[in-house]
Amino acid sequence: MTQPYRITLLPGDGIGPEIMAVAVDVLQVIGQQFDLTFEFQEALIGGAAIDATGEPLPAATLETCRRSDAVLLAAIGGYQWDTLPRHLRPETGLLGLRSGLGLFANLRPAKILPQLIDASSLKREVVEGVDIMVVRELTGGIYFGQPRGVFATESGEKRGVNTMAYTESEIDRIGRVAFETARKRGKKLCSVDKANVLEVSQFWRDRITQLASDYPDVELTHLYVDNAAMQLVRWPKQFDTIVTSNLFGDILSDAAAMLTGSIGMLPSASLGARGPGVYEPVHGSAPDIAGQDKANPLAQVLSAAMMLRYGLNQPAAADRIEQAVLQVLEQGDRTGDIMSEGKNLLGCKAMGAALIQKLIIS
Ligand code: NAD
Repeated sequence: MTQPYRITLLPGDGIGPEIMAVAVDVLQVIGQQFDLTFEFQEALIGGAAIDATGEPLPAATLETCRRSDAVLLAAIGGYQWDTLPRHLRPETGLLGLRSGLGLFANLRPAKILPQLIDASSLKREVVEGVDIMVVRELTGGIYFGQPRGVFATESGEKRGVNTMAYTESEIDRIGRVAFETARKRGKKLCSVDKANVLEVSQFWRDRITQLASDYPDVELTHLYVDNAAMQLVRWPKQFDTIVTSNLFGDILSDAAAMLTGSIGMLPSASLGARGPGVYEPVHGSAPDIAGQDKANPLAQVLSAAMMLRYGLNQPAAADRIEQAVLQVLEQGDRTGDIMSEGKNLLGCKAMGAALIQKLIIS
């Protein structure tokens, strides 16, 4: 038996606790099969933390996360906290967690599963075989640059300002994560910018090009963001790994994700230079179906697989979980969000049980 992995669980709000329970059950079974032990510690974030402590990210939660090997997060947010001032909103807890752990790289896979190909709004021949990883810079760029705010001009007219800025080291560290990621995949990296208009983007392009000499086995290309958006919809199979800044990545990763047509299936990983990463589904807390056993737990389960792969260096265990997900889809099991004619409609718990059964019998 190996040293236990310390995993902080942040179930959060809405469907969070339901989907987290399934992921934990899956990890327990995987632990037995791969001789891994997990020491789970649950902590509060988002609306649940606001209700219990008055703040969306209690210091104790951040401390627990810092002391762990990885953080598995479900989702935060809900209507009842929407009217609170910004610093007390559930989303502020999430931003605080990312900055508190120095998570500058966001990895979002968009992979078409053959069993769900009809869920995509694009034609089968366009999306079949799509397997893209978007590497988004997460703690710099226009979301954090100074100056920012709404200021009065000399004429008395108000002017809103945000600043897109990147330092050499910020570009280099995300660039290296992207090259390393591409190296483990199809060895093709496309860097997306707006270098024809923005100086910061030209600088980004120059730095990424310089880094490429350290990764001769990875083929580097560049695209302007407007063209990249077009190409993602026109012929997404041309992409393997994409690296881009915070703003462009926010938009492109959602577009790439939607190629798959199923938000309840998409995991993500946020990584820092050292310390634990945060692994979470792309979707939110789905308050409209919370507490009704209708949630799709698969994005949460696939986030746990990403945790095993990227955070704990257990790729065989990650492969096994991903395979079990494909197996339950193959036998026709579906939650409501991915349901289609002739398939078996399951609730969240039953989907978890079906996964466990696949893990145990094969
Ligand atoms: P959402 O992703 O929660 O829901 C969008 C739609 O998708 C809803 O109809 C929902 O029922 C459905 N859906 C989402 N996940 C599902 C799942 N696993 N299984 C089945 N159906 C699923 O987005 P929203 O409605 O815009 O936001 C709801 C709340 O979540 C808001 O408070 C928002 O701020 C928050 N949010 C949190 C995160 C996060 O925690 N990272 C991300 C996005 C939104």
